Amino acid sequence: MRFLVVAGGTGRRVFALAGIILVGLVLTGWYHFKGGEGKDPNGPPTVGQTAKTVVLDPGHGGDDSGAKGRLGTVERDLNLVVAEKIGQKLTAAGVNVVLTRTGPENLFTGSPWTQRAELSQRVELARKHQAAVYVAIHGNSFPSSRWSGPQTFYQPGSQEGRRLALHLQAEMTRRVENKDNRQARAEDYFISRVSHCPAVMVEIGFLSNPGEEKLLRTEAHQDKLAAGIAAGVLRFLAGQPAPNGGDRKVAGKS
Ligand SMILES: [Zn+2]
Repeated sequence: MRFLVVAGGTGRRVFALAGIILVGLVLTGWYHFKGGEGKDPNGPPTVGQTAKTVVLDPGHGGDDSGAKGRLGTVERDLNLVVAEKIGQKLTAAGVNVVLTRTGPENLFTGSPWTQRAELSQRVELARKHQAAVYVAIHGNSFPSSRWSGPQTFYQPGSQEGRRLALHLQAEMTRRVENKDNRQARAEDYFISRVSHCPAVMVEIGFLSNPGEEKLLRTEAHQDKLAAGIAAGVLRFLAGQPAPNGGDRKVAGKS
């Protein structure tokens, strides 16, 4: 489950959020001015030279437990298990990994707790760590139980977000079934809109599909997903063009 926040002027009414966006814009400007790690298509891959930071965000937390499967799988807990596995693989590859939460609880401890405050704090954590990549991990759910497969979402207009999402989608699809042929898709989400760095939502599979829920509960399937996401992140950090000819749009714009 994801928090779909409709784009518009509502952000201006929230002073704190406006501040975050302003800071984000300033930092984005600086980032581009500096050339941005991995953004120069002619530059050498920098992985291994300077350790990069990847923020992994296990979706949900606390009383907000996300989707639930018929077998009792709680999305909040599954997201964390998979995020930790991704973190282990990226750490082994020399990447700095920051998790937005390492237990079941939320990050935002103020009162009242709101989704907006929670997500703002998670995105802010990534900015503080000057993360190169932000990956949110979620489990999908739909009223019909027929749908299955992992899917990635990136912010409309973000070429780097798209490149990241395409790598993640391709590397997951390489390792687990994707019968519905799910593709990386542009969709407007709060975290990817306000994040200072390329941010992607990953739906690792459908808890509403009993067969897929069963798979998602196995360590073998979790390992495959984690390996795919980690591999996709590493390809992105190495500056590799989007797979499936998806780099065409990136090359066409400056
Ligand atoms: Zn979710």
